[in-house]
Amino acid sequence: MRYGWHSIVRQALGGLSAVAPAWRNPEPKPAYDAVIVGGGGHGLATAYYLAKEHGLANVAVLEKGYLGSGNIGRNTTIVRSNYLLDGNVQFYEKSMQLWEGLEQDFNFNAMVSQRGVLNLYHSDAQRDAYARRGTAMRLHGIDAELLNRDQVHALVPFLDFHNARFPIHGGLLQRRGGTVRHDAVAWGYARGADSRGVDIIQNCEVTGISIEQGRVTGVETSRGRIACGKLGLATAGNSSRTAAMAGLKLPIESHVLQAFVSEAIKPYIDQVVTYGAGHFYVSQSDKGGLVFGGDIDGYNSYAQRGNLPIVEHVVEAGVAMMPGVSRLRLLRSWGGIMDMSMDGSPIIDKTAVEGLYLNCGWCYGGFKATPASGWCFAHTIARDEPHALNAKFRLDRFRSGRVIDERGGGARPNVH
Ligand SMILES: Cc1cc2nc3c(=O)[nH]c(=O)nc-3n(C[C@H](O)[C@H](O)[C@H](O)COP(=O)(O)OP(=O)(O)OC[C@H]3O[C@@H](n4cnc5c(N)ncnc54)[C@H](O)[C@@H]3O)c2cc1C
Repeated sequence: MRYGWHSIVRQALGGLSAVAPAWRNPEPKPAYDAVIVGGGGHGLATAYYLAKEHGLANVAVLEKGYLGSGNIGRNTTIVRSNYLLDGNVQFYEKSMQLWEGLEQDFNFNAMVSQRGVLNLYHSDAQRDAYARRGTAMRLHGIDAELLNRDQVHALVPFLDFHNARFPIHGGLLQRRGGTVRHDAVAWGYARGADSRGVDIIQNCEVTGISIEQGRVTGVETSRGRIACGKLGLATAGNSSRTAAMAGLKLPIESHVLQAFVSEAIKPYIDQVVTYGAGHFYVSQSDKGGLVFGGDIDGYNSYAQRGNLPIVEHVVEAGVAMMPGVSRLRLLRSWGGIMDMSMDGSPIIDKTAVEGLYLNCGWCYGGFKATPASGWCFAHTIARDEPHALNAKFRLDRFRSGRVIDERGGGARPNVH
């Protein structure tokens, strides 16, 4: 069913009987041309573009839990394309362009809100770094504005501009950045893929990968064996575990990242604002809650929950940036597992095992990458070679040393 005014009228008049499920709940078939492991944003987007762009519809997405149970349903919903380095700039801008047409493309309201992303700077050195990044963006045709303190004050007057340690000097603004409702992205891609014939199979955990003579032949799952010609892993925080089933050891560490939402207040923050003197980012949801996050918990974990020291750390940074929120009550917090790569950039590549493809290493930033990641991964799987947009996200860059270290922080997962 196509959603639009006619479907609203039909459902209003027809009651519950006129409401069709958004996607089917099929039993797994014994074999598929391609299987994608992981029903998060990236796995679902990959299946959608495999069917839509490459005509490959004999595809299954296998998800061990329910759709949206991973990071796609846990992130702080920020999208942007304000990158500096070659490879990242083009890829994330492709993602931004796909976000801009996504709702029309998959006929689903994902609440794409280009409310602007403002990164604050607090020193001359930080301003110079942002000026350089903004210039690189503009040279690639991407919007970026370097604002001084008065211009930032006009946008967000409630910040602590005169903080004794970290006074705010200005900010780098990308007006096309913003937020997108995260779980609607999963639902939209699921519905779009399903309507093109893709089987989305929930509660189906992949427990083993079969390889014969260097080639993938299928997967063992909690619902039996499924044969496939091609296998794509899009398991985010569990990437090391699923890749290990094929004998691969990845340059990835899994860490918890927490997010928080406050009680609802009146409209307060129109943009996404990030603090330059600490790790803190905040926006306001349509329900009125402030949605925010900060650093990862500093230990490896596969548990989707975090600990109290980071709660204190993140809230401290938030109150330093906007003291006015210090008496707000925290409503909820939760955690997701981040696949932190050693240069902070992702991996979208084929592997040495024939028919096995890898999508991982998203660190803090994989939500905004969802459309381009799915688009490029679908291309890589269908054509058996990377697209120019993901040609720099090869696995062997960690062997050759051609890393894409956007933050210049070195091989430390906690600095990305
Ligand atoms: C708190 C938090 C805040 C974030 N904020 C932002 C943000 O503001 N902006 C941004 O760009 N990014 C953000 N991110 C990062 C972003 O959410 C992730 O990088 C991205 O969602 C990862 O891709 P995914 O959606 O495919 O992952 P997931 O939704 O985690 O999908 C992976 C799926 O694989 C499944 N799986 C794992 N193992 C198996 C198996 N063996 N068999 C079958 N299925 C399996 C999992 O159950 C899971 O559903 C944030 C993340 C977190 C946790």
